[in-house]
Amino acid sequence: MDTAPKSVSPVYAAITARCPRCGKGPLFKNVLELRDACNHCGLNYRFIDTGDGPAVFGIFILGFLVCGAALYVEFTFEPPTWVHFLLWGIGTPLIALALLRFLKALLITLQYRNRAEEGRLADE
Ligand SMILES: [Zn+2]
Repeated sequence: MDTAPKSVSPVYAAITARCPRCGKGPLFKNVLELRDACNHCGLNYRFIDTGDGPAVFGIFILGFLVCGAALYVEFTFEPPTWVHFLLWGIGTPLIALALLRFLKALLITLQYRNRAEEGRLADE
């Protein structure tokens, strides 16, 4: 991995889903599928390995948000059950996708900036 400039903010790169090095090339082909390389600076994205990180953070954040919002709506407005099915049945997957995209881009940028990679023995 080459030198990591500190000019691209991880939050900016995550919100815009841009390259962790230049902050200009798109990171994803579609909603969550990564490109092979940055089409602006040529950074190869093969080093990326976020594993289950984005999903774990997403589950905790999404569970907290949706459960809190569902309880708030229920006890404040007391809507019929179909309103809950409509709100959370449609809202939860949409929020999950947006949150996963943001968290995946954030963890990729942090992995790049901090040069996080698998540990190796010194003589290898
Ligand atoms: Zn780039």
